[in-house]
Amino acid sequence: MIKVCKFGGTSMADGISVRRVADIVNADPARRFLVVSAPGKRFGQDTKVTDLLYETYEELQVTGKLGAAFTKVCDRFRSLVSELGISFDIGALLHDTEREIYGEPTKDFIASRGEYLAGVVTAELLGAEFINARETVKFTADGKLDPVTYELLSVALQGKKRAVVSGFYGADASGKVKTFSRGGSDITGAVVARAAGADLYENWTDVSGFLACDPRIVDSPAQISALSYQELRELSYMGANVLHSESIFPVREANIPIRIKNTFRPEDEGTDILPVSKYKFGGKTVTGIAGKKNFTVIFMEKSLMNSEIGFTYRVLSVLTKHGISFEHLPSGIDTMSFVIDSEELKGGVLEQLCEEIKELVAPDRMRVHKDIALIAVVGHGMSRNVGTSARLFQAIASAGVNVRMIDQGSSELNIIVGVDNENYERTVSAVYREFFGFKI
Ligand code: ADP
Ligand code: ASP
Ligand code: MG
Repeated sequence: MIKVCKFGGTSMADGISVRRVADIVNADPARRFLVVSAPGKRFGQDTKVTDLLYETYEELQVTGKLGAAFTKVCDRFRSLVSELGISFDIGALLHDTEREIYGEPTKDFIASRGEYLAGVVTAELLGAEFINARETVKFTADGKLDPVTYELLSVALQGKKRAVVSGFYGADASGKVKTFSRGGSDITGAVVARAAGADLYENWTDVSGFLACDPRIVDSPAQISALSYQELRELSYMGANVLHSESIFPVREANIPIRIKNTFRPEDEGTDILPVSKYKFGGKTVTGIAGKKNFTVIFMEKSLMNSEIGFTYRVLSVLTKHGISFEHLPSGIDTMSFVIDSEELKGGVLEQLCEEIKELVAPDRMRVHKDIALIAVVGHGMSRNVGTSARLFQAIASAGVNVRMIDQGSSELNIIVGVDNENYERTVSAVYREFFGFKI
């Protein structure tokens, strides 16, 4: 039995939590391979080491020198080692790191140092081998994970009783350090699990599992005991950021289950994420709710749009020309909407896009809704239970919220509704109350 355990920033925040990490790992001999994140926040107003490292990069850009932010990073690691009470020369390692930053002063290299230092210190604490992701996690020239990673990692892990791999980064085709997107240590954990042929990928964090909705919106939401890979993908992509939305791909191919566990309450059961074949449908309608703010919806209407060959193609060509991707494309017989992350439309891009679309396809009507929040209601049970959409829209209407857009995924696994940003929290609470009862 092999378990790969990923410990997130909250689990690595200080000496007390890293000791817990060691206790968890020592409690089960199957927990042979660890992936660690950079230390996260120790308290509400604290700054994550990764954020301090991005600040370090900015300071270096402006002054040409490492400044106050890097000093804070060094202080975090000095305190961590002293709280752990291990005899390890952290000063020398920080000194080398400083030198290496001047040698490779890129944003990704600097950002990766939190995971690197955390990995070295954890390996030291556990008496385990440290495996540097730079040597083993590789990206192709177009930024995708290079499959050679699996070979390199499995060779590196072979025969090791215990090893610690640094999360979040790897090396690009030219050998330079490249990071995944934020929260990417979850992906490293999944990649290591696959390379190790693990029986289970344990993802240790600061909540006792996947919750039915964001705990920052609804107080103590219901805990989900199991969900399928597809449900996880939908929920995490739509904002349930307890797990990176791309972390299912490596484990799904190998049918390795993921278990989300709480470092601070290891006795709690957690949430299992399983292939749909092993998923027990418990009769529930909705598995979870997630959402994100700040989208723009471009709506267009044209009589006989559906019979006009190449209409969609021409609109898409405008987006492609501007290098813009869209999130959703709900359409009717004579209508079509593009839902786009508002970040992509800044600096006059939206206006230019609308102008070009008008010129190319001459819609009868065109409207733009800005500041839209998307809310995804997800669950395999939705297609089995009659009347789910009626309940959903009734709940939203009763909360006095106007629905700006609806998109039912073709997988019948989700319904996405768009509402004004200002109604986001209210809508999530109302939908939660409808499907999960009154625990608000
Ligand atoms: P880590 O540092 O362990 O990677 P993250 O901060 O990335 O942890 O993810 C855990 C956090 O995700 C939780 O503290 C919680 O606030 C947030 N979160 C958002 N949506 C959900 C959800 N549906 N279920 C559980 N946690 C959620
Ligand atoms: N430390 C990185 C971040 O803050 C990666 C991670 O925590 O997964 O995004
Ligand atoms: Mg995370």
